Amino acid sequence: MADISKPILVIGGGISGVTTAVEAAEAGAKVVIVESNPYLGGRVAQLHQYFPKLCPPNCGLEINFKRIKFNPDITFYTDAKVTSVSGSRGNFDVTITLNPRFVNEKCTACGECEKVCATEVPSKFNYGLNKVKAISLPHEMAFPNRYWFDASAASLDELKKCAAACKYGAIDPDAKPETVTVNAGAIVVATGWKPYDMASLDLLGAGQLPNVISNVQMERLAAENGPTKGKILRPADQKEPESIAFVQCAGSRDENHLKQCSSICCLASLKQINYVRQQYPDIPIYMFYIDVRANGRYEDFFVKVAKDDANLTLVKGKVASIKQDGPDLLLEAEDTLTGKKTSQKVNMAVLATGMQPARNGLSIPGLDYDDMDFVISEPDTTGIIGVGCAKSPVEVVQCMRNATGAALKAIQCCK
Ligand SMILES: Cc1cc2nc3c(=O)[nH]c(=O)nc-3n(C[C@H](O)[C@H](O)[C@H](O)COP(=O)(O)OP(=O)(O)OC[C@H]3O[C@@H](n4cnc5c(N)ncnc54)[C@H](O)[C@@H]3O)c2cc1C
Repeated sequence: MADISKPILVIGGGISGVTTAVEAAEAGAKVVIVESNPYLGGRVAQLHQYFPKLCPPNCGLEINFKRIKFNPDITFYTDAKVTSVSGSRGNFDVTITLNPRFVNEKCTACGECEKVCATEVPSKFNYGLNKVKAISLPHEMAFPNRYWFDASAASLDELKKCAAACKYGAIDPDAKPETVTVNAGAIVVATGWKPYDMASLDLLGAGQLPNVISNVQMERLAAENGPTKGKILRPADQKEPESIAFVQCAGSRDENHLKQCSSICCLASLKQINYVRQQYPDIPIYMFYIDVRANGRYEDFFVKVAKDDANLTLVKGKVASIKQDGPDLLLEAEDTLTGKKTSQKVNMAVLATGMQPARNGLSIPGLDYDDMDFVISEPDTTGIIGVGCAKSPVEVVQCMRNATGAALKAIQCCK
């Protein structure tokens, strides 16, 4: 066993960061996780099911949270960010700023504070599909399972009202930001991804036509802890959809938007077609695609979803526009198999928007990025290791494999 005296700093507490932390700590290292959200789990916590097995993501996350909870070698900070980094491989001086959460560990998640809070904000967890109170539990399975106050949305007076309603003394309106310093041997960048901005896709009606939603919003619509308690309904009128189109490569593989293929969106849409089928066995579903990228063993998943579905139509063509047509949406595309323009009426459309690197303003001297802005990992020279979707858009299994490798690399940097 190496003498790992300095901690490993993991920036980002999604599945990649959490897995790296757990693997490194269980091999004898000390780990500090810094997460900017008020909870761990990253975007996986917002998925309804995982392809290809279609199991709930929270199972996998919970096991990891348990491993973190009972491991004294892991320290984690939520609602936190790295504000400065200096030094080099084996010896980094890092400053971390902890935003005040205003709700301490005495919180029992009873919800009394929420009842008296008048301010509502769009739910970040549900990608703006509904509103939540300015003081709320980030989501039912949140770890830590503690309320959080959105200080950017509500006033101190509102917080004081919430504090008065808390019989456990768990709300501290006077909480202030804190600073923590860490001398780390290695830095793991696990900052993950964000969805491509829908606002740029105006030709596809994004942001203008309420029944055009993104693939990440579809995950939330289908989830039992989502805004509609898992019922897939049209956002405009909360009615059941009578037909749905899945629009692949919405902004992806496009010089004007995202150049790359995220390699996940085809599988995510196939999975979401399955969500729709569970609730609406017979409605027409259309999937417009350039080519369906379901590589290797995922080909079986594609066949399983698509093979015997007589009401699923696959159209090989990229959608050029989506317009409102009375109560419906009108999609226009070129069917590349027939060479003809085609139009299709539906009453709901799901845009498969791609994955972009997310860093929330993180800046580390010496860290390089590729031409799509993903982290270039060079542990041997820099002591900084990119992992999971910070490095490239990948699925969860790949993130976890990657994380195990990153944990070992990080330990080597600390020696
Ligand atoms: C529509 C859709 C459906 C999908 N479905 C599946 C599926 O069914 N199965 C599957 O295997 N994969 C699926 N994926 C892919 C899956 O979401 C990713 O593989 C996974 O989220 C990657 O995890 P990660 O930890 O690398 O990144 P993330 O989940 O993005 O986590 C990164 C974390 O880092 C934090 N962070 C970012 N910047 C900072 C900073 N500066 N400081 C501190 N913290 C920071 C973020 O808040 C976040 O918590 C899907 C993707 C999409 C788009």
